[in-house]
Amino acid sequence: MTKKWVFLARNGKQEYAKILGREPTLDEMKALFGGKGAGLMAMTEAGAPVPPSFTITTEACVEYMRTREFPEGMWEQALEALRDIEKQAGKKFGDAENPLLVSVRSGARQSMPGMMDTVLNLGLNDVTRAALAKLTQNEWFSYDAYRRFITMFSDIVMGYSRSYFEEKLDELKKREGVETDPEVSVEGLKWLVNEYKAMYKARFGEDFPSDPYKQLDLAIRAVFDSWNGERAIAYREHEGIPHHWGTAVNICTMVFGNMGNDSATGVAFSRDPSTGAHEYLYGEFLVNAQGEDVVAGIRTPQQISLKGSREWAKRQGISEEERREKYPSLEELMPEVYKEFLGIVDMLERYYRDMQDMEFTIERGKLWMLQTRNGKRTAAAAVKIAVDMAKEGIITKEEAIMRIEPEYVDQLLRPTFDPNAEKHLIAQGLNASPGAAVGKAAFTAERAKEWAAQGEDVILVRPETNPDDVPGMLVSKGVLTQKGGATSHAAVVARGNNLPCVAGCGEISVDTNRRMFTAPDGTVIKEGDIISIDGFTGEVYAGAVPLVASRYEQQVELITLLSWADEIRTLGVRTNADYPEDARRAVAFGAEGIGLCRTEHMFFDPRARDAVVRMIIAETDEERQKALDDMLPFQEQDFEGIFEAMDGKPVIMRLIDPPMHEFLPSREELVDDVYHLKLEILKNANSFEKLDELRAELDEKERMLRIVEGMWEVNPMMGLRGCRAGIMYKGLTEMQTRAYFQAACRCAKRGIDVHPEVMIPLVGVVNELKLEREKLEAVAKQVMEEEGIEVPYMFGTMIEVPRAALTASEIAQHAQFFSFGTNDLTQMTYGYSRDDAEGKFLLQYVERGILPENPFQVLDQEGVGRLVKMCVEEGRAANPDLEIGICGEHGGEPKSIDFCHRVGLDYVSCSPFRVPIARLAAAQAAIRNRAK
Ligand code: PEP
Ligand code: MG
Repeated sequence: MTKKWVFLARNGKQEYAKILGREPTLDEMKALFGGKGAGLMAMTEAGAPVPPSFTITTEACVEYMRTREFPEGMWEQALEALRDIEKQAGKKFGDAENPLLVSVRSGARQSMPGMMDTVLNLGLNDVTRAALAKLTQNEWFSYDAYRRFITMFSDIVMGYSRSYFEEKLDELKKREGVETDPEVSVEGLKWLVNEYKAMYKARFGEDFPSDPYKQLDLAIRAVFDSWNGERAIAYREHEGIPHHWGTAVNICTMVFGNMGNDSATGVAFSRDPSTGAHEYLYGEFLVNAQGEDVVAGIRTPQQISLKGSREWAKRQGISEEERREKYPSLEELMPEVYKEFLGIVDMLERYYRDMQDMEFTIERGKLWMLQTRNGKRTAAAAVKIAVDMAKEGIITKEEAIMRIEPEYVDQLLRPTFDPNAEKHLIAQGLNASPGAAVGKAAFTAERAKEWAAQGEDVILVRPETNPDDVPGMLVSKGVLTQKGGATSHAAVVARGNNLPCVAGCGEISVDTNRRMFTAPDGTVIKEGDIISIDGFTGEVYAGAVPLVASRYEQQVELITLLSWADEIRTLGVRTNADYPEDARRAVAFGAEGIGLCRTEHMFFDPRARDAVVRMIIAETDEERQKALDDMLPFQEQDFEGIFEAMDGKPVIMRLIDPPMHEFLPSREELVDDVYHLKLEILKNANSFEKLDELRAELDEKERMLRIVEGMWEVNPMMGLRGCRAGIMYKGLTEMQTRAYFQAACRCAKRGIDVHPEVMIPLVGVVNELKLEREKLEAVAKQVMEEEGIEVPYMFGTMIEVPRAALTASEIAQHAQFFSFGTNDLTQMTYGYSRDDAEGKFLLQYVERGILPENPFQVLDQEGVGRLVKMCVEEGRAANPDLEIGICGEHGGEPKSIDFCHRVGLDYVSCSPFRVPIARLAAAQAAIRNRAK
């Protein structure tokens, strides 16, 4: 028996089921019949009025591509199917009295611009045209359909560009002195058709094919051939669509939207694709027109529903009278059809269980559905549609959760650039912290603060950032750096403060002396010039790109969706918050605790900085202790604020972590200052008073320079930082612990429910942990005694050094919790410097496929993940009560969160603005892995 290449829409699914011996899935339907073919069959099955049609399978296309011939039996099967649709339509292909006309459309598994689209009115020739005129009592219409067919066939099937045909039509309109197509005379159209035929003959040396079967044969071949057209191949390359799939061909009975004023054609959405609203039918139509007229934009389309029409008119500044007269809605023009349409749309939505994007035609008052597919939508619409559909009982809550890309949530929480705005892209960096920002470029933190104080919007542009830049960052609208990666200082601080940040933008060269940067296209941005940065994409634009804002409290559907996510997820979601304000914000976003408080960030406060510097450069124990005493109140005050915000929730305070020299002035600046002071001294050799002053200043600078040079490290990320600093700087751990427990006890006395947890960073050997633990337990005990109150606390460690992961069973015996610091763990597992790699080679690695993804953004499950998994297993085996979380940047990244769920972590911790994303991603992980 020959293979079945052709299926009717009216029973295609059943026929395919017979071959398979079971019901085909939607994906299988799409694979064999293409998206459109599967859609026609599904719409027919759902009971929608679909013009009779049949589909030639993608398998036939694949076979044709191999042999350049129709596969055996295909043509005969197509003719048989044609007989069937003739019978359904009560018309005959090529008939001189009641001719059937068809459309021929391509349709791949995935919608693919670049392939042949549609030929309408196929089957027309002089004889069938005359029959059509007689049948419709409308000669004009018949010629109009004929000239459209010749144009489309020549263009799409034969590659003779339609612009030549349009030129002729324009010539005719000019001659007749009319502006629009419907005004052209019948005589004019007759002339046009003859001209078109002559053009065709002159071009191809033969007559325009009058045999409908020849037309059909050529059109099918053209669809098959279009699969390997240049544009289609380029599109597949870009989208990663396999080249061997092939396209289906859909042959569909023609229905006409241009048969008079009781006919129309248009497109409709079952819900508003930009807001998700579900109040009426959204979309546009044209009376007495064919589909291409709507797309071509020659006439102003009318709105389908009355309400939509009124809103549209208001936006356009059109009066109600004018609207009613010139642009009435379908609801007003054809109320019965509108009502039927609503019913069909509802049915299709329930069948597809998603918002539908539909094409329809009304032929003499009869509604036909030509196509339907799941509609594209904005992030806001996606959330609203999913939540509404779950409430309407069309989908389950779990399906609603699975339908939302976690990154959509991110988009909803931040202002974005107006997608319709014109932009001048000048550079591309790393999308380090999402959000869109516009402002004046400032090249120093000082300038940023100065302008911000004057109420200006500023973008801080730096080669890289250090703690000195933080005050400048915090007053800026966004940050752009030339160097540094996704976990660089700039990126971490930016994310923590919801500051859009583009980091590691190696394409630009920042000249801080001349206060400017140059982009690859030669654009120079000087201090004060306006730039726009997109932290979602890493794009940098010259000039101001308009913004559209957002507010979480007002996003009712998002809040509902996340509350459903909370019912499902098993992973806890905490936040990385360094200040009371961050903590409050994170709680509003649903954080269940603080997984990481980077306590050194509290010292970015300029008033505390002086004490920190004194602590570092102290030469005696007394000096150091004095400095520590001065640092303590800053920490205690912030800790109290944090405990208040987190009432009832755990708070992990991490002891100071970064290399100490980060708090000191830069060596280069000091060298510069010393040089200039020496020059000044030479210049002022005669002014004794001035000399004394300058010498004192020089002494001070030289002393600082000696200290800074003494602390200089080749690789500070692997140097004196983390618990090593706590161990080497006497009194530091004690001071931090005291500040923390004083805050906890005092808050507890005020009735706040406190759960302090202390975390030791960068442990590599168990002895480091033991040493630090001993110190802090002693201080905790002492403070609780002093304050006369006991608070429950926990003590744990970060797992950031591979050796700590490898010796988890030993370390777990001395810790109540582990928290994976996957920023450092990634850095040390790969041996990639987290501050340098992205700017130097890492992005290229990803581009060239050496790495599948940036491991500082998406957790490397094979390598770093293996350490994590092993550490979890061995840690829990040694200490079954061990609580385990993650606080590296991966804790807010959906794929990494899925991994955390699978390896059985207790919680993830991420920056406040990623908390909602993490809640959703954690629920998705629970559903996905349950399904597996
Ligand atoms: C980490 O290393 O993953 C971490 C959270 O610590 P930090 O980024 O502060 O080094
Ligand atoms: Mg770390």
